[in-house]
Amino acid sequence: MVDGEGVAATEPKAERAKTVLPGDIIGISEEYTTGEGAFDEKGNIYATIVGTVVEDPKKRVIGVKPLCDAPPVIKRGDIVYGTVSGIKSSVVLVDLAFIEGSENREIAGDIMAAIHVSNVKKSYVSDLKHEFGYQDIIKGRILDPATLRIDTTHPRHGVIKAFCSKCKVGMIRKNKVLECPECERTETRKISSDYGKGLV
Ligand SMILES: [Zn+2]
Repeated sequence: MVDGEGVAATEPKAERAKTVLPGDIIGISEEYTTGEGAFDEKGNIYATIVGTVVEDPKKRVIGVKPLCDAPPVIKRGDIVYGTVSGIKSSVVLVDLAFIEGSENREIAGDIMAAIHVSNVKKSYVSDLKHEFGYQDIIKGRILDPATLRIDTTHPRHGVIKAFCSKCKVGMIRKNKVLECPECERTETRKISSDYGKGLV
């Protein structure tokens, strides 16, 4: 998003159809004012929602427009993406964002799905806090559309983007653990093989 030379004044860039996730850097506060769907921290502007980056080149405002259209219907076997909104002793709560294949149609409203401790991975899970972090972006398969149970046992499923529990910055994969680029602490997750590769 941030190019070294800054944004050329002659170049019209009203809107760019790039899908971003919460926590993605969309600009720097030296160049832009933070618009809707974004927040500013330590000079960087981050997306707070799933959507497309929108910038107003005249007012120099950058933000994120939510994805919207008719809400898709969730079916068994659908691959879904969402944000971890709570971690209980036996279940992880996920705020669903969208379904794979319908990325341009955000799931309307607050649809809460859940990953039960028995559906996280094939091996034994002693503590869900070792597998997921608050606000992590996860990918999983819908087991039951009625109860919105999600399964993440497949190697490609699990956490695709995690945030340091202290600094809240995006963590970088180092083999089997994740490392924070700010404080260098390492954390564990049920890491998807698609970790850090973007949306799909
Ligand atoms: Zn950190």
